[in-house]
Amino acid sequence: MNRLLLLLMWTSALAAPAGTLELHTRSRSSADPGAAPELKTVRWDPARTALILCDMWDDHWCKSAARRVGEMAGPLNAVVRDARARGLFIIHAPSSVTTFYEGTPQRERAKQAPYAPTPVPLSTQERWGTGWCWPDTPREPAMPVDDSDMGCDCAEKCTIREAWTRQIPAIEIAPEDAITDNGQETWNLLAERGITQVILAGVHLNMCVLGRPFAIRQQVRLGREVVLCRDLTDTMYNPEKAPRVSHFEGTDLVIGHVERFWCPTITSTDLTGRPPFRFRDDPRLSRAAD
Ligand SMILES: [Zn+2]
Repeated sequence: MNRLLLLLMWTSALAAPAGTLELHTRSRSSADPGAAPELKTVRWDPARTALILCDMWDDHWCKSAARRVGEMAGPLNAVVRDARARGLFIIHAPSSVTTFYEGTPQRERAKQAPYAPTPVPLSTQERWGTGWCWPDTPREPAMPVDDSDMGCDCAEKCTIREAWTRQIPAIEIAPEDAITDNGQETWNLLAERGITQVILAGVHLNMCVLGRPFAIRQQVRLGREVVLCRDLTDTMYNPEKAPRVSHFEGTDLVIGHVERFWCPTITSTDLTGRPPFRFRDDPRLSRAAD
């Protein structure tokens, strides 16, 4: 009996060593949109995992988008703190404004990480100031929301301009973190640390969280294991455009697109043990936890 107990303790320790991240992932069939989501429990070594924060800027040309980032920033910072304490490497990726951080140790850390060749070439196309991975046909169909108007959902339409100057100050940048918006620098930082697993959070999912050179499409192509933190993201989607659902249902549709064609998703509960984040304007009881 004691032996059995010991064996049980030993095998359960093997299954989930202390400090291991237990992620409850959700993905979907790319072939059958009606199929039930596939739920799995996977275990990741925190020391081989990075959390990358995409474009959590201090301001945005769309007032609604800026307001939602402001609402999400505090809760995201609490998640980042927990993730950092658990040993994850944090990369702040405020695209096209990293010069704000020039000379800081976190920016220097990214610039000075030793060059590591990538297994496939990084995208050399440029969009919005960084390399870009465009939608990949035939791997993925068109986005499930029409964002051709750039997605301002304000009653009075906002004028597109470069409103951002830095990452939103509510997200702390710790001494051990790194700052980059560059695909090669991101690869170098991960390679230097033996990091093969990446969690993405931030905005906006239908644009930068998929397309930026540190983000989902590029990381998947580089062979990294990637998950999206689905409660800590947002989209640029205007409900006046197809498929004419609420902003938050539009975000859910894009999350479903990612789950079908790119990578599984998790909620921040897997990092914190607390309930997932939810926007206060989201009328539904449980957008991210279903
Ligand atoms: Zn707007």
